[in-house]
Amino acid sequence: MEKITDYFGSLVFNDAVMKEYLPEDVYKALKKTIEQGKTIDPGIAGDVAQGMKEWAIEKGATHFTHWFQPMTGITAEKHDSFITPTEGGRVLLEFSGKELIKGEADGSSFPTGGLRATFEARGYTAWDPTSYAFVKDGSLCIPTAFYSHGGHALDKKTPLVRSMQALNDASLRLIRLFGNTDAKTVKPTVGAEQEYFLVDKKLYDKREDLRFCGRTLFGAPAPKGQELGDHYYGVIRPRVSAFMKELDKELWMLGIPSKTKHNEAAPAQHEMAPVFTTVNISTDHNQLTMEILKKVAEKHGLVCLLHEKPFGNLNGSGKHNNWSLSTDTGVNLLNPGKTPCENLQFLLILTAVISAVDKHQDLLRLSVASAGNDHRLGGHEAPPAIVSMFLGNELTDILDSIENGTEYTAKAREKMDFGVKTMPSFRKATTDRNRTSPFAFTGNKFEFRMLGAPMSIAGVNTILNTIISEAFDEFSDRLEKAEDFDSEVHAIIREYYGLHKRIIFDGDGYSKEWEEEAERRGLLNLHDAVSALPYYTSKKNVELFGKYNVYSEIELKSRESINIERYNKCLHIEGLTALRMAKEQILPVLSKIGADLSLNLTAKEGAGFTAKYERSIAEKLCELTDGIFEDCATLSDAINKAENSDDILEKAKAYRDLVIPAINSMRSKVDTAETMVDENEWPYPNYCDLLFSV
Ligand code: ADP
Ligand code: MG
Repeated sequence: MEKITDYFGSLVFNDAVMKEYLPEDVYKALKKTIEQGKTIDPGIAGDVAQGMKEWAIEKGATHFTHWFQPMTGITAEKHDSFITPTEGGRVLLEFSGKELIKGEADGSSFPTGGLRATFEARGYTAWDPTSYAFVKDGSLCIPTAFYSHGGHALDKKTPLVRSMQALNDASLRLIRLFGNTDAKTVKPTVGAEQEYFLVDKKLYDKREDLRFCGRTLFGAPAPKGQELGDHYYGVIRPRVSAFMKELDKELWMLGIPSKTKHNEAAPAQHEMAPVFTTVNISTDHNQLTMEILKKVAEKHGLVCLLHEKPFGNLNGSGKHNNWSLSTDTGVNLLNPGKTPCENLQFLLILTAVISAVDKHQDLLRLSVASAGNDHRLGGHEAPPAIVSMFLGNELTDILDSIENGTEYTAKAREKMDFGVKTMPSFRKATTDRNRTSPFAFTGNKFEFRMLGAPMSIAGVNTILNTIISEAFDEFSDRLEKAEDFDSEVHAIIREYYGLHKRIIFDGDGYSKEWEEEAERRGLLNLHDAVSALPYYTSKKNVELFGKYNVYSEIELKSRESINIERYNKCLHIEGLTALRMAKEQILPVLSKIGADLSLNLTAKEGAGFTAKYERSIAEKLCELTDGIFEDCATLSDAINKAENSDDILEKAKAYRDLVIPAINSMRSKVDTAETMVDENEWPYPNYCDLLFSV
């Protein structure tokens, strides 16, 4: 039988493969760039390309492509074959250093948020040697950055890598002050847990809302949802299990360390989580994971839904971004150790994260702002739109005692007693978990839970890396001047914790009371994407990203416009789809059912029988039918009003304030009507079929 170890990473041009396929000096030079961030020597590109080509052809590749992550949030590729025709009708297979290093992407169709208009229609892709190349579907994929002729980043990867550089410098500066002299690099590590739904492809194809919007715009709840809690961690059904096995194999071949799989809370909902790795790699991996989820699902007659809220009344899908910081010597800087109260470096780093998150709540909030995620944030299954942090009792107590100048006495970790002698006993963790917190400390990392399932993790990590660099530098500025190092560390913790501890909240983040309490604390509550996105270009944020060379002002502006435009386009599509379904599917069916019922009614009453059912349903259905008809006009007007606005933010407000309510009003009528009619006559598959058939 085939073993995982035989094929794990078999499609990746990783370190072991590089060693085998590259001349020794080339391999060493490349490794320096990858591990220590040294500038790549363009002289080695020819040899690297040669080695890559040889290896890729052995793996069955016929083409190569620069693979990049434009601001659409998905990946882009344009394939060129290796062939060069020669005499006698034959071909040579070629791939040059120049082709490896640089590509010209005539990408005028990629969103640029006005960036390209200011310069010219040319875009370039440049090899990112820090991410491994791989073979996918017969093509050698070379991870690249994508930028404009004027040198502006047109992608999600470039700012991420810039932020990693900033954080590396700021972290090394700080840990040197604590006497760490051996670490050469500090890198953020991320493990992204990915939630998704699986539905039957045949049913999916019959629903225009799923096909065009990725979510159901209509649908009465099934009698059973997730209330029994019987799906979460439940036994995986055979069809899903076969899907998951193939998914894992495909991921493993691409070197993606898929680790955990399980059923999630909602029916038809599942999760996968990989082992964490350096953030630029985990970003590539997560993009590939989303692509492969969809591809493998199709092979099994399924469709993988990554939308934040595919179904009303059920949990939506998120992505948990587990973030930490690691030195090249293998030290996790967020590991509190056995006695966190004595670990000053850890406590200072923790304080830096607290102050960064409090100071830049707006940025974390906008990093997850989208039309889709608006359905999820603040719902009863997802973190609210308010950013807050959970530390757990022990750490909160330690920081409190430093702030108050009182002595902290560590509590012994209790032993678990199961009351069963034969079971192994172990010590309890010092704190429980808090599932409702948007940003929770979970042992040796922070788990940021506000991302929507389809989102790229690049944006939020670019932000995290930058805001934490800023806090580190503020601390280093002070510590470098300090006369008594330890007492200055204490002073900083006391001061910053005091200023920023309002961001810490250990209670139920889903509750109404928290919203009120957060308001009293002065925390931001940016309820929807339209309110959050304009913060991209606030003065504070332009200065911050400028200082760390992560985003220029114009790059921020472009991201702001792209995301607002995306919101508008998404709602435009939803509005048109709702109209189309109502006019071309729902209303004609309702009209026919109403007429049939009336005929039955007259027939029955004419024959001298009672017809309570027909009379009551026909009346109610006719009323709903007319209501839906009127809602079509309202929705249509709302869409026109929104589209008539030239300003993208005004347009977004019109979508939020006019179009969304019109869709909601229509939905409530359609869903009521659905529960009153013969299910065989309903024009598309219902929630019972979609959620309980796989
Ligand atoms: P849960 O669902 O209980 O939160 P999972 O096991 O599903 O936990 O996912 C935890 C994720 O956190 C995994 O992707 C794991 O690799 C990641 N993780 C663990 N340690 C670190 C770390 N030091 N840095 C980044 N991510 C980490
Ligand atoms: Mg998990």
